[in-house]
Amino acid sequence: MPRIQVLPDLLVNKIAAGEVIERPASVVKELVENSLDAGARRVDIDIEQGGRKLIRVVDDGGGMDADDLALAVQPHATSKVRTEDDLFQIRTMGFRGEALPSIGAVSQLRIVSRPTGAEAAHEIRVSGDRMEPVVVAAGPPGTGIEIRELFFNVPARQKFLRSPQTEVGHITEQLARIALVHPEVEFRLTHNGRLVHHLRPAAGMRSRIADFYGRELADGLLEINRDERGLRIAGYAARPAESRSSAKWQYLFLNGRFIRDRFIGHAVREAYRGLIDPHRHPVVFLAFEIDPGDVDVNVHPTKVEVRWRDSNAVYTQVLSALRDRFLNADLTPALSTDKGGAHGHGPGGDAAAAGSAAAVEGSSSGGIDDEAAEARRQQIRASIADFFKRVKPTTSGLPNLTDGGGGTGVSPVQSGGAGAGPAPTWDRLAGGPPPGSGDPSAFQGASSGANTDSPIPAEMFTVDPQAAAPGPTRIDNVIQVHRTYLVAETPDGLVIVDQHALHERVLFEELSAQLARGPLESQRLLIPDTLDVSPDQLEVIEAHAERLQQLGFELSPYGPRSIAVHAAPTLLKDDRVLDFLRDMLDRLSVQAGPASTEMLTNDLLSMMACKAAVKAGDPLSLQEIQALMSRRGQVERSSNCPHGRPTSLRLTVRDLERQFKRT
Ligand code: ADP
Ligand code: MG
Repeated sequence: MPRIQVLPDLLVNKIAAGEVIERPASVVKELVENSLDAGARRVDIDIEQGGRKLIRVVDDGGGMDADDLALAVQPHATSKVRTEDDLFQIRTMGFRGEALPSIGAVSQLRIVSRPTGAEAAHEIRVSGDRMEPVVVAAGPPGTGIEIRELFFNVPARQKFLRSPQTEVGHITEQLARIALVHPEVEFRLTHNGRLVHHLRPAAGMRSRIADFYGRELADGLLEINRDERGLRIAGYAARPAESRSSAKWQYLFLNGRFIRDRFIGHAVREAYRGLIDPHRHPVVFLAFEIDPGDVDVNVHPTKVEVRWRDSNAVYTQVLSALRDRFLNADLTPALSTDKGGAHGHGPGGDAAAAGSAAAVEGSSSGGIDDEAAEARRQQIRASIADFFKRVKPTTSGLPNLTDGGGGTGVSPVQSGGAGAGPAPTWDRLAGGPPPGSGDPSAFQGASSGANTDSPIPAEMFTVDPQAAAPGPTRIDNVIQVHRTYLVAETPDGLVIVDQHALHERVLFEELSAQLARGPLESQRLLIPDTLDVSPDQLEVIEAHAERLQQLGFELSPYGPRSIAVHAAPTLLKDDRVLDFLRDMLDRLSVQAGPASTEMLTNDLLSMMACKAAVKAGDPLSLQEIQALMSRRGQVERSSNCPHGRPTSLRLTVRDLERQFKRT
């Protein structure tokens, strides 16, 4: 007797079930996908006891006749592919012909189906290796499938089933992964007779996102739309402030099917780098459409992974689609004001999503506010703009709120260093000498020409309104509070800026730009500094010699356990050079393996920017504030510091109205 045997059908099906049917949610996924493949416009899902007792999926799709019904439960029987070539033109959700036989092998399966236009329905029952003949039954057009006693003959799987609530959570997630990209289809989900979701046909993905994850998240999303070189990308990206602690919030769909993809994942992370904390994850919902011939979907049993013909092109296009969108968006998070405000949460709403009201502004599509409210908002905006046109502030923009300085609380910005108060800190911002006096013209003369490469170009310091014409707009109404925050008026409200975070971002962008052109500007030290290092650190320095030179350092060994610093980046003030080098060595020694050079360089630049930036508690002069604020509008990603923390928060007039109960 040969040792090798062909396995009996039941065993084959159970093995297939092992791959595809992990828990009730997998059954729901397979059945709902079949319904969509059958052209259903409405799918009803009823669950009892988390799916352990019953899973029922009823659709109004094309249905099956008696012959098809008998074949549908056979392994490797499908209506979706006929020839090998079809495998590379797959437009349906299924094609492996495995789901129904697998499910039948591990449960009590009953299918009632009636093709469109047929007189009668038929029914088939399968359980384990028992299959009953097809019989005539009563039923509406479409297909209804019932699964009872899931895993009755697979104790190992049954043991791993969680509480009904957890299983329903998984089912909801599977439903979301399908319903998000099929907004035109109506879905109902009940658990133990209670309605969990009723998703009415919708115009697009945004309203489905609201259904599952709450209005607040949905309304704040930035729309992504790009169609290039055979790849169409449509969907939404959340603002950086909406980041999450889990990577699960990357909803990617390919030709209508949920996928996980590391190339797209990398591109998304790269696009958000510097905008969110490195330990957090962005939220995106992106649907891709591509010619089925350009991607192989037959590489994973549940088809959740794919193989691209040109993964680099996909990476690049995702990255630029997101980057372009971010460049055109105001990413400044809104101050969270009235928590119980106008924005409710959908049933599946994530508690973590509740913190920010970023959605309030920048939402173009919501359609939740009536026209009257919008008209009123416009009117208020116009009258505020009008007011500030008529009332031109003189020195400090806002009315004098202080009773004479005092050093605490809100203090008006000084004008050009005139008068008492904190000393000007010009050099930290401009890298040059402080203006001699408060006289605008003298100030301008001193600044033009010199220091064109300084982190904040001298032209930014223009205080003469006449000369300001072609340059950046001057921000009049701005004050520093608690020597840490800058508060400025904007066309539709106000913005509060963290001076350190913003300056850090500005310097970082400047440094990146400089580095792209060549080595950073460097300054020789009159007397070389020395730094004690371990043999390991010395090795690190040698390994990164070229990078260090690019960054503007000139170092040489100085005895066996120290190095001499001959030159350092101009941007770093003397007292911060050694500090930076120590931090940098720590960073470089923990970097195991050849990390992406770009990432490492960015790391170092952000450290440098952090060391060179003004700190919280530093008093700033009006010129410094103006310079910083005018850079805000010009620098890419100014909404977040290089570490991903926000640089600014905004409060709209509308928020204020709400708070003061004016609406
Ligand atoms: P696949 O979806 O990979 O073809 P399945 O085992 O899921 O394999 O289904 C087998 C076949 O049964 C499908 O190809 C389809 O023809 C038919 N079928 C399954 N579910 C439905 C349904 N809800 N409506 C109509 N036909 C269905
Ligand atoms: Mg199928």
